[in-house]
Amino acid sequence: MSKTQQLTKKDHTYVWHPFTQMGVYTKDEPIIIEKGRGSYLYDTKGNKYLDGYASLWVNVHGHRNKKLNKAIHKQLNQIAHSTLLGSSNIPSIELAEKLIQITPDRLQKVFYSDTGSASVEIAIKMAYQYWKNIDPQKYAHKNKFLTLKHGYHGDTIGAVSVGGIDTFHKIFKHLIFENIQLESPSLYRSHYKDEKEMLAHILERIETILSEQNDEVAGFILEPLIQGATGLFVHPPGFLKAVEQLCRKYNVLLICDEVAVGFGRTGEMFACQHEDVQPDIMCLGKAITGGYLPLAATLTSQEIYNAFLSDSHGVNTFFHGHTYTGNQIVCSVALENIRLYEEDRLLPHIQKTSRTLETKLSELKEHPNVGDVRGRGLMFGVELVQDQESKTPLDIPIVEAIIRLCKDYGLMIRNLENVITFVPVLSMSNKEIKKMVKIFKRALKDVLDKNHSNR
Ligand SMILES: *Cc1c(COP(=O)(O)O)cnc(C)c1O
Repeated sequence: MSKTQQLTKKDHTYVWHPFTQMGVYTKDEPIIIEKGRGSYLYDTKGNKYLDGYASLWVNVHGHRNKKLNKAIHKQLNQIAHSTLLGSSNIPSIELAEKLIQITPDRLQKVFYSDTGSASVEIAIKMAYQYWKNIDPQKYAHKNKFLTLKHGYHGDTIGAVSVGGIDTFHKIFKHLIFENIQLESPSLYRSHYKDEKEMLAHILERIETILSEQNDEVAGFILEPLIQGATGLFVHPPGFLKAVEQLCRKYNVLLICDEVAVGFGRTGEMFACQHEDVQPDIMCLGKAITGGYLPLAATLTSQEIYNAFLSDSHGVNTFFHGHTYTGNQIVCSVALENIRLYEEDRLLPHIQKTSRTLETKLSELKEHPNVGDVRGRGLMFGVELVQDQESKTPLDIPIVEAIIRLCKDYGLMIRNLENVITFVPVLSMSNKEIKKMVKIFKRALKDVLDKNHSNR
């Protein structure tokens, strides 16, 4: 048996993969990644793949980056881990300062955790407790969150509760708490004639709810600019700013979940900065360590932090914390990751490659099976349909065949239902971006041609 065959057997025997129907997964031979370099992944058979999903939206400066590797080695020579409970450590202090410097001014404090879902749980609990700490009587009913349909904030129970995915809600309906879900401002599958009409209508609806129920609403949580994991729904310009103004007007906390869109993904360091928005709470994760290690952070305003202060441990304290909070190795690599954005002038690079990606993908708009091409920065989706008129989603087996063929042609990308997502390594070169789209176009053509001739 070859090395790959042996590993496949063990993988199928022992590993339960996330978000995966294992009954289907174990029928195929998996791609087992052995190493990476720059924008490429290499499997155990020596095949090479362009990393078009940035290893699930996390990789920034490429794989096996010398400087990031060095930052980890350097920290290892000091210490791997000590706890932030009751003591502190050097990298977590320096990283917190850096995060406060680069995020919107309103954010003044950093609370660490280790997954995006945890950063959202923390945001929810903080927002909820904030109101109870400042006036438990007056704000007794501020217990709900405004959320968006198609929102994704992670998989823990609290994060699912504020998410907008019906299938998740159905199974766990007795475990999750109630939220007030709003229509997502995304045009393609809406009944609105244009973005202007959609924006006006949805904002009016939000204002109605807030004016009537603001005494029940603790916060409004949303993914700014792009709702990622449910199919890359892009909001029209001005929506985020208007939401911020409504939150302030009606005394509701604004929670921006930048786990996916943060760290340059949309072309600015943070999505909020496109519209000069100042969230009360911001959630960070994914690309925060350059795609090296799990780290997340929940940033808050001074005002929220102050509401948790008292002279007694039992009063107003935020009783939450994870064992590896503020781990030194993780914080060290995050610090180096952020430093490299400046050193490599990564944001201007992303703005340039984003134009290439958009131009190349837009050429597909004429294709009869392409319903919509949407995105910002280096986060684009191509929605595949049976025909442009009916917008009926292309059959999933066909979409999956396209994804599989992309892999055969040397490109790792993923689909979210009938939406093909392009979320590449942020440092990917212009040439590699073009190659990525070229491979996709070839796979699209080959699968659809074959499909037509089979009919
Ligand atoms: C990925 C994601 C999360 C969850 O992060 P995990 O690290 O997978 O727990 C939360 N919010 C958004 C917007 C995400 O894209």
